[in-house]
Amino acid sequence: MPAILVSATPSLETLTNVENGRYEHVTLHRRHGSATLPDVCLVDMRRAPPDRGQFLSPQLIEAVKATFDRQEQAMLFLNRRGYAPLTLCRACGHRMECPNCSAWLVEHRARQILTCHHCGHHEALPETCPACEAESSLVAIGPGIERVHEEARLHFPEARILVMASDTLGSPSATAEAVRRISDHEIDLVIGTQIVAKGWHFPDLTLVASLMRISGSVGGICAPLSVQCSFCIRYPVVPVVPTSLVRCCCRAIWEITL
Ligand SMILES: [Zn+2]
Ligand SMILES: [Zn+2]
Repeated sequence: MPAILVSATPSLETLTNVENGRYEHVTLHRRHGSATLPDVCLVDMRRAPPDRGQFLSPQLIEAVKATFDRQEQAMLFLNRRGYAPLTLCRACGHRMECPNCSAWLVEHRARQILTCHHCGHHEALPETCPACEAESSLVAIGPGIERVHEEARLHFPEARILVMASDTLGSPSATAEAVRRISDHEIDLVIGTQIVAKGWHFPDLTLVASLMRISGSVGGICAPLSVQCSFCIRYPVVPVVPTSLVRCCCRAIWEITL
């Protein structure tokens, strides 16, 4: 019996099966109605790095400001909840890990905790390193959306910013209200995790940046599953953008996977 797998974001396994001739590939040649694909620009952040300790490229910051000048909206997409994916001791190099599953603990600064996104373990951020007992030596490494939000407030102090993540939107009604506020242009800048990749239709939202610098990297190694997640997730973001898309990149792997 023939079966048709239907998806805007097929898995890498499915794409490999197509490439190897095991599956036939049926494509839609036109988008719905008058929709067109957005312009896509890849920003190589090795050539245009952000300021020290920051994560938004100068090109992206300019693009967002130009979007606001046109009275349009922008979105920053980073599939990383919390403030920072890794907390590290500057003195001894100790990494804060989950005692249950050895994943890195993610700092949620607003709640002042470190939490494991795999098993739910959470603990207070210690004042001294548990390994070497150095004081105030723990530093946040890498961005989560809380940190991107902090940076966005510096660069765009006048903007009305909405953070969309499962931490900030606790119910379907809260999500519906967030969508209404974006639709009614009560928001200038949306910062969100995969929760924003739902194929919404926001006519004034004309710039989306996918911040890829860490979302596929685990411990400095790009894991195949993470690459697949990033590969799959970014495409649903595209349909909401009528004209332009900026993607940021600092690792060669993303140039390959794009
Ligand atoms: Zn230490
Ligand atoms: Zn855990």
